[in-house]
Amino acid sequence: MNLIHDPWIPALRQDGSYCRIAPWQIAETDNPVVELAAPRADFQGGLYQFLIGLLQCVCAPEDGEAWAEWYQSPPDAATLAQQFSVLATAFELTSEAGRPAFLQDLTLEDGEQKDIAGLLIEAPGGKTLKDNLDFFIKGGRVNAICPACAAQALFTLHTNAPSGGVGHRVGLRGGGPLTTLLQPVGQHTLWHALWLNVLEQRHDLYCHDNPLTAAIFPWLTPTRLSDKGGQSTLPGDVHPLQMYWGMPRRIRLQPASTEGRCDLCGDHSDTLVSHYLTRNYGTNYEGPWRHPLTPYRLDKKNEAPPLSLKGQKGGLSYRHWLGLTIEDKDNGDTAASVVQSLVQDKEMYLDSGVQMQLWCFGYDMDNMKARCWYDHTLPVFVLPAAQITALQRWVEALLMPAKEASPLLRKAIREAWYRSPENAGGDVSFIDTEFWQTTENRFYQSVQQLVIAVQSQERLPADVATSWWKTLQHTLEQLFDQYALHTRVEDLDLRRVITARAYLLGKFHSLKTVKALKSDNQRTQEVTHG
Ligand SMILES: [Zn+2]
Repeated sequence: MNLIHDPWIPALRQDGSYCRIAPWQIAETDNPVVELAAPRADFQGGLYQFLIGLLQCVCAPEDGEAWAEWYQSPPDAATLAQQFSVLATAFELTSEAGRPAFLQDLTLEDGEQKDIAGLLIEAPGGKTLKDNLDFFIKGGRVNAICPACAAQALFTLHTNAPSGGVGHRVGLRGGGPLTTLLQPVGQHTLWHALWLNVLEQRHDLYCHDNPLTAAIFPWLTPTRLSDKGGQSTLPGDVHPLQMYWGMPRRIRLQPASTEGRCDLCGDHSDTLVSHYLTRNYGTNYEGPWRHPLTPYRLDKKNEAPPLSLKGQKGGLSYRHWLGLTIEDKDNGDTAASVVQSLVQDKEMYLDSGVQMQLWCFGYDMDNMKARCWYDHTLPVFVLPAAQITALQRWVEALLMPAKEASPLLRKAIREAWYRSPENAGGDVSFIDTEFWQTTENRFYQSVQQLVIAVQSQERLPADVATSWWKTLQHTLEQLFDQYALHTRVEDLDLRRVITARAYLLGKFHSLKTVKALKSDNQRTQEVTHG
């Protein structure tokens, strides 16, 4: 199967029909493709990145204007087919050793043979099986898969790769990175959702001449081994476009022979893949990589390399919004380049104030073990740079008191519960989660109001500020009462409860960030970081 020429990508067309398309068909305008239809959530995210990677490699727009032209109307499908066809020889799924096969080690002929289920991120390793911790996939359920699913599995594994034991390398963004993709709101085609995430040439993510090179597609040459005497792979060692095609694992699919039903998508296939070969010490990505589709935490002193944001326990909430969509100065979280490009390159070609959404997804990995898969969408807004900066300051002014109030609530509830709370154990992170969830709707309503206000005024609107601190206060009272009073009668000490409640409200109102929200006519410049 050739992943450039053959129709293998599961998709839905405007009339609701299911189909398989070749990559160039994303530009078809007659009954266009509106969505991908991968058999698994992680494959869906993988396919999006696969197609964005192809577009970035062969048709990165010269500038914002060129980008806007194709956003308004996609290129002719035949033209796109021709542009993609340059890459065809690198996108054969299977071939004999010594000839390139998509995301597979060029020369691997002998290695450990593994069942195909091992390509799935949640595949339990030996220890997980022994400990009976294989929540996602019980051993033996996935035995044989079709070539299309094998391609999706390969891409998804390489791009998310967690550590896989000694010498089995992690992905270029670290194990289980968060990916953030821009999406239009409302009816749109797949083309729009993909093209929004393609970067202009000034980002240096394009190829001047023939893109068919091992510097971009590492499987075109023998693997840069990282065993004893091997080497690490830093950004300067290869082409920046390799970020879309990282290959940390050494894998070779074994020739498929049987036909039948695919255990992942359920479709019938003439060939099914059931095993692969693998060896360790593949490409070891190290150093200051900044993958364009992933947000990073930047070191404030600029000493440590950027750290890709990962899925995390407790999930994403609005407290991450600033860091994922703009920049959170409090912790250094900075939006992915592709999100920044919306303001920097694309804004002037889109309607100001328009809402888009940011699709954030990824695995929450506990080392080699996948805890869960995250899939969230957050609002993002198209605004000129100066207004985005003002919005960022205003949102900080709302977020800081919420960040400071949440630990106060936890502390007060523990003080109401226990005579000596410092000695009482127990995980009370569910209180934080509930605090963030309870205030989430009101937060996004406030942001909507700020987006309108920022287009015509310079000061944080007093009504938004007032309503926000009242929301926080009300939520603190409500959750405190709910948890502090709901304890066993013999443990309830009303005097302790009353003292803790007074402590909570007193502390909250004395927070500098809360006082700032209360002060009339506060100027945006006065917003402090507490
Ligand atoms: Zn399949």
